[in-house]
Amino acid sequence: MNQELEQDLKNIDSLLKKAKLQGLAFLESLSERPTSVNQTVVLNSKLNEIGIGAEASLKLFNEKFEILMVSSAGPRFLGFVTGGATPAAILGDWLTTIYDQNTQSTKGQGDISAIIEIETIKLLLDLFDLPDNFIGGFVTGATMSNFTCLAVARQWIGNQNGKDFAKHGVSGEIKIFSATPHSSVVKSLSMLGIGSNNFIKIKLQEGNRESIDLDDLENQAKALNGLPFILISSGGTVNTVDFDDFMAIAKLKEKYNFWWHIDSAFGAFASCSPTYKHLMSGWELADSITIDCHKWLNVPYESAIFLVKEKHKIRQIETFQNSNAPYLGNTFEDLSYLNFLPENSRRLKALPVWFTLNAYGKKGYQEIVENSIEMAISLGEFISESKGFELLAPVRLNNVCFTLRGDENQNKVSDFLFRLNQTGKVFMTPTVYNGKKGIRASFVNWRTTQSDIEIIKSEMLKCLNF
Ligand SMILES: *Cc1c(COP(=O)(O)O)cnc(C)c1O
Repeated sequence: MNQELEQDLKNIDSLLKKAKLQGLAFLESLSERPTSVNQTVVLNSKLNEIGIGAEASLKLFNEKFEILMVSSAGPRFLGFVTGGATPAAILGDWLTTIYDQNTQSTKGQGDISAIIEIETIKLLLDLFDLPDNFIGGFVTGATMSNFTCLAVARQWIGNQNGKDFAKHGVSGEIKIFSATPHSSVVKSLSMLGIGSNNFIKIKLQEGNRESIDLDDLENQAKALNGLPFILISSGGTVNTVDFDDFMAIAKLKEKYNFWWHIDSAFGAFASCSPTYKHLMSGWELADSITIDCHKWLNVPYESAIFLVKEKHKIRQIETFQNSNAPYLGNTFEDLSYLNFLPENSRRLKALPVWFTLNAYGKKGYQEIVENSIEMAISLGEFISESKGFELLAPVRLNNVCFTLRGDENQNKVSDFLFRLNQTGKVFMTPTVYNGKKGIRASFVNWRTTQSDIEIIKSEMLKCLNF
């Protein structure tokens, strides 16, 4: 055995203890750690001939990079839609690394990890109050989940015309409708060989909405004269967290032949709260659903699930099977994740989710979700009452989309946001909404409290009166 490896194996106890202590110190400092840094580092492109061992590597990391790590898992990081990690999720994530399973087959003499993944999907269906006629799995994020679901939708479209796109490639026109697709949906269309321009934008509902205008959708559907199409709908748009009317879409599904996909990367969590659950009513009738776990479920990156109706299992396997590897068995009999989703070798991403779900249950997630919404409403109230800021849309759930008050201040928005993020006390993301430069603050981290909101308000005012 290599000398450095042998040494590290001997010291693994002390190495892991060091990592634990360092990790704890980081977690304890999350609230004080800056949310942004400016420094850059000189990159090393020369690898040692002989390794330096784990302990010296840790020292090197600490000197060079650790000091620059931002508090993106902390309570005031409101950029993008960024969750943190619950204690149980961290525990599960550590063990995922230690056990290091390659999660694939549910049958045979292999490991149990795929069964853990299946149980975790069932627990998630229960959390979201979805029926058990969905099958699903873990991928790295909502982008890959959208990709996976739309790949099966693409196969379905081919099937409708007697074609097997998975085998023979995409041919003919594919009709896709959407009102406010997330950028990752558009990216998926590009990756799927459908083309990122190849979707028809449905009109938005009147009244500062981002949701589908149902009359326009029905007219477009009618005009296809029975041609099958794909509808990509939103359970929580990223700017203003608007929801398409799923009950109405479910009604249309009785009349028209389409694949219904819902991107509810974070909006799905509305269903954890009796107060907001109605926003997702009807979603159980969709063909496929995207949900992120590394956002509102608060597990570490990279974690998301796709859900596809069990009746489409064949198309899912047609799309993702490893058809030229006989040693992988009969893809239709033994469900193996490697014939079911993009990756072959894969980490047991379900384990952190399994831990956090068991640890905090439905009540825990209801409270996390309702707390985030309360924080967003609180910041929203401050903004709508302030002289300096204004909301670009009402706070519908957990995101606050706002700008500087007055059109004359539009050219100051970027400077303001730069100054605000520069404080290191809070982080927000720039956006454009309704042709206006805006800012988005998204609440999904379980740690955020009202005292964080007070800090955020005070920093916003300081940067405004700069
Ligand atoms: C975040 C998000 C995505 C993309 O998710 P990743 O996890 O970053 O891949 C897709 N759709 C919506 C609505 C999102 O909020």
